[in-house]
Amino acid sequence: MDLQLIRDVDPEVAALMALEATRQQDTLRLIPSENYASAAVLAATAGAFANKYSEGYPGRRYYQGQAHVDALETLTLNRAKSVFGAEHANVQPYSGSPANLAVYFGLLSAGDTILSMSLPHGGHLTHGWKVTISGKFYNAVQYGVRRDTGRIDFDQVAELAREHRPKLIICGASAYPRLIDFERFRAIADEVGALLLADIAHISGLVAGGAHPSPFPHADVVTTTTHKTLRGPRGGMILSKAEHAKALDRAVFPGLQGGPHENAIAGLAVALAEAAQPAFKTYAAEVVHNAQVLGASLLSHGFDLVSGGTDNHLLLIDLTSKQVSGKIAAQALERAGIVCNANSVPFDPRKPFDPSGIRIGTPALTTRGMGPAEMRQLADWMSAVVAAPDDHGLQAGIAAEVKGLAARYPAPSY
Ligand SMILES: *Cc1c(COP(=O)(O)O)cnc(C)c1O
Repeated sequence: MDLQLIRDVDPEVAALMALEATRQQDTLRLIPSENYASAAVLAATAGAFANKYSEGYPGRRYYQGQAHVDALETLTLNRAKSVFGAEHANVQPYSGSPANLAVYFGLLSAGDTILSMSLPHGGHLTHGWKVTISGKFYNAVQYGVRRDTGRIDFDQVAELAREHRPKLIICGASAYPRLIDFERFRAIADEVGALLLADIAHISGLVAGGAHPSPFPHADVVTTTTHKTLRGPRGGMILSKAEHAKALDRAVFPGLQGGPHENAIAGLAVALAEAAQPAFKTYAAEVVHNAQVLGASLLSHGFDLVSGGTDNHLLLIDLTSKQVSGKIAAQALERAGIVCNANSVPFDPRKPFDPSGIRIGTPALTTRGMGPAEMRQLADWMSAVVAAPDDHGLQAGIAAEVKGLAARYPAPSY
């Protein structure tokens, strides 16, 4: 990106942007919800569509000047439907959270019951957690994982569904390292007459690349972010069966949002074109393979992994046996150039702000081209840091080694 352009107008922001770009280059990004969008995606997102208002949908807009916006949005919708095998798509949600809210607004009435995974067991805030609008406006009943396996407790899901007769069942998570069995959720939804929403925000890139089973044809509606494993611009998307198209489109606009961010939609179109390439299939498979190699290496260093490993892009590490909290570990790792997030583990006795675990993932490192050898090296470094979280000298030494490794795998930049 031509930072000079910004520097001439606003040196303060230009300086912060340069620092952030350097930080993203010099450290190892292990936050599983983050990735590096390609230079083409970033450039498309920064382009002329940012200046256009286009409330409505292609062919049905409220302002003039929509010829190119309509062509762009139609192209993006067709790509989205093709990549995910969906009958209907809406690419206007500003992000994953408003995409979910639009689904609730479109398909439910205030006070209706939803059944979803609880936040402390890996679900997302927007799936009915009590402090959110989804928890206040709807009656959320929540399932979790089994204590012995760390996997979704389908007996509990079925029992709660029979008892509470939810109108909507939500599957999909933010901190769950295993495959989501959409077919099993469908069977439970059918038994109680519920709709099924699959929120694939974290795994949509794996679904697009064939490394995770598709939620279709099982789910009625699918929501996703566009910036996680899918590697697009920041945004959200709703995919659905045709019968829900009208209700969902009306819920997004005019129900919840005004003008769509057509520049983000331009970035999404480019990301979807990338996701349709054979190279993206390879990418998705490598993300999962890297996560599994990293998991095996961490196990050999005596780390406890929730559910014992991973089927997808992320690992949830329970640090209880290492006698360090998630927050302390995450801070120590950051000083060593390894950036992750503290995370609750299922049945966590500690508070969410300083929980027992950390959550890591491989989407971003895989985008940079790292492979199994780097995953093993990373596990060695993580083990050393977690064993001595107060050893700032050790952390500085590892940070220098990390920077050297990172230099060999440039982050996409624009
Ligand atoms: C990230 C995430 C969201 C929310 O996305 P934002 O873009 O942060 O609003 C919703 N659902 C799940 C499962 C997520 O992981």
